[in-house]
Amino acid sequence: MIQPAPSRAGSLPLIGSEIAFDFTNTASGRGHESQQDHLRCGADVVVWARHARVLAPGDGDVAKQMLAADTALADRLLARALELRETIHRTGAVIAAGGEPTAEDRDRLTAEHAACLTRARLTPHQGGFVWAWAAADGPAEAILGPVTLSALTLLTQSDLSRIKQCQGEHCGWLFFDVTKNKSRRWCEMEVCGNRAKQKALRARLRPRAEAVE
Ligand SMILES: [Zn+2]
Repeated sequence: MIQPAPSRAGSLPLIGSEIAFDFTNTASGRGHESQQDHLRCGADVVVWARHARVLAPGDGDVAKQMLAADTALADRLLARALELRETIHRTGAVIAAGGEPTAEDRDRLTAEHAACLTRARLTPHQGGFVWAWAAADGPAEAILGPVTLSALTLLTQSDLSRIKQCQGEHCGWLFFDVTKNKSRRWCEMEVCGNRAKQKALRARLRPRAEAVE
């Protein structure tokens, strides 16, 4: 049996333009044999949250210690994180394809938001107010709260035609297209864009009889 590559939760490219999509991009190749999941335990979720700056370093340390001391808490965080991630991924993918998210997924997002708000504090910020979470009040909510809020803000306040899924084969990553003319197609040009270009080039160069793809 092939050993899975180590989790890259702490080094994944953050190309989603929004926290919610960076979070969905902690898995790739969903449903394909090349599938990789970088969230494999509660600690991976904390590692990603620090990497994506959902948690400040100090809060990351607090969350890490709380999870290390309570395996049930770590397991619950992972289960909630994966359910939220897949809910946001389904929602984003269906919108990118021109469809409408299911009522079940909208309800799941609403329920997670409500659960996270029980640990949030309305906090002054730059002349206004924001929801803020402290890891000590609940490490799961401190991580999943900002992610859920990002997803809900996208759904309620953004131009949905900018929500896109990478066109790379078996990629599945989501991003919010902030280009002026909404022309972005790839998660990363250097990864999926070039791969697609090379594939098209090979198809053009190969004699027809040898075409197997
Ligand atoms: Zn891609």
